[in-house]
Amino acid sequence: MRVIESAAMQDVEGRSALIVGTGLAGSLLAVFLARAGWTVRLVERRHDPREKRFAEGRSINLAISARGIKALQRAGLEDRVMKDALRMYCRMIHPVQGASHAHPYSNDPTRGINSVSRSALNLALLDAAASEARVSLLFARRCTHVDSVKGTATFVDEASGNAETFSADLIVGADGAYSAVRDALLKSGRVDFSQTFLTHGYKELVIPPVTSGKYAPHALEPDALHIWPRGASMMIALPNPDGSFTCTLFWPWEDAANTPSFATVRSAADARAVFERDYQDALPLMPTLAEDFERNAAGSMVTVRCSPWTANGRVTLIGDAAHAVVPFYGQGANASFEDCEALTDALAAHANIADALRAYELARKANSNAIADMALANFVEMRDHSAKASFRRKKAYGRFLSRIFGRYLEPEYDLVSFSTVPYTEAQSRGKRTSTFMFASIVLPIMLAGAGLFFYVEREYGKDTATDLVLKVLVLVFGIGAIVDVARRISTASARP
Ligand SMILES: Cc1cc2nc3c(=O)[nH]c(=O)nc-3n(C[C@H](O)[C@H](O)[C@H](O)COP(=O)(O)OP(=O)(O)OC[C@H]3O[C@@H](n4cnc5c(N)ncnc54)[C@H](O)[C@@H]3O)c2cc1C
Repeated sequence: MRVIESAAMQDVEGRSALIVGTGLAGSLLAVFLARAGWTVRLVERRHDPREKRFAEGRSINLAISARGIKALQRAGLEDRVMKDALRMYCRMIHPVQGASHAHPYSNDPTRGINSVSRSALNLALLDAAASEARVSLLFARRCTHVDSVKGTATFVDEASGNAETFSADLIVGADGAYSAVRDALLKSGRVDFSQTFLTHGYKELVIPPVTSGKYAPHALEPDALHIWPRGASMMIALPNPDGSFTCTLFWPWEDAANTPSFATVRSAADARAVFERDYQDALPLMPTLAEDFERNAAGSMVTVRCSPWTANGRVTLIGDAAHAVVPFYGQGANASFEDCEALTDALAAHANIADALRAYELARKANSNAIADMALANFVEMRDHSAKASFRRKKAYGRFLSRIFGRYLEPEYDLVSFSTVPYTEAQSRGKRTSTFMFASIVLPIMLAGAGLFFYVEREYGKDTATDLVLKVLVLVFGIGAIVDVARRISTASARP
């Protein structure tokens, strides 16, 4: 085994970083650290994607919003990445039956989230890292071990099987949700860790471009994120610049009541039958459904929580390695980019690396917990609530209140996607808005009830007033129960 000492990597400023993983977070961090004077070695398990330029194959996209754009701006990459982005201003809901309907993301009609190609984004970041003189890149090397006391990381060359060990002043695990660097931290000390798999998996499908139609080359509105909410499951579709849409099917892994699952729907023929029943308007737009369904494996979604993120003042985690979140708020990459900025700023602000790592974790940990929770809650909102009229009314009322009260009552979605306030603040201000909405409906009813009670008491006596209150309560709860039962019956019969 060869050990390559950090001294060989050091530059005048004498600081070297070893980043494991050239995904979205690792590549961006390399750019930031190199520009801050660090000598950076980036090591990746896969082959160099620039050799293929991702030209062929399917388009996989992801939504980038204010936080991601801010980090890209700082790296000077905003124009390159955003020139091909498609802005989605609303959720377009496709019910089982009937016409689709749009829900704007914000009161401000210019606000939208941006569908960008994941591979093009990764290439832009890798190109930027490679163009920095202080960055060296190594591919097809899998990290197998990290020694946080010595500050070394060991990699196995995927071709030869030989092991190489590199040392550096700072080792950063940017190696994704199933991080090898994190595994090494878990083995080496007192680290709290949990990974919670979602009961649902995901499978990517395609709506190809069309040559005619209102939105050609797109088959559907290209300025919307399309959702087919189906109670316990759903499908979404994000537009691509070539006219196609990447669809993602979110189904339970296991057999579940009233919904298809990956356990029960296995063949292309079964999938087609489900689409004929549940996704009728999408099916004619998906001529490659059978091939896509059989070829594309279903993937897992996991929430990772881990603490601390740092060890011995030399090793730390960023991005999904530190805090993988489920994708329903479209924030995993955005949050990872924020990590890169926070770590760079902490390293610039503290002379001692250990202090910087502590400051970085302090700045990010609570925020990553907050977005993990909001992302899980958003899954239920998208798949279950977004189809309901009551949800549309609630959203419209929220937008109405925010128009009147402005910043004070900004909805959580706006704060998460269209601002860069910390996620914890977005979460707490979002809760405040919900509480205010609830109170603004319930309080006037309670005041009117109290007024009526005192009026009846004064006019007819306390017994009559109490009797009236009891009757009203029985009536309200009785009607509520009847409405609830009717709603359940109609939902069950509408659901295939
Ligand atoms: C279905 C789905 C949809 C999503 N949609 C969105 C969205 O719309 N918006 C959004 O912001 N986020 C989205 N995300 C989340 C986003 O993809 C991640 O948060 C983001 O990719 C995290 O970046 P990362 O660099 O931390 O990890 P990754 O992008 O996973 O990169 C990790 C890198 O490390 C490498 N690696 C792994 N192990 C090793 C090893 N042992 N040695 C060396 N290298 C290694 C990997 O090959 C990879 O290149 C989505 C995720 C999923 C699953």
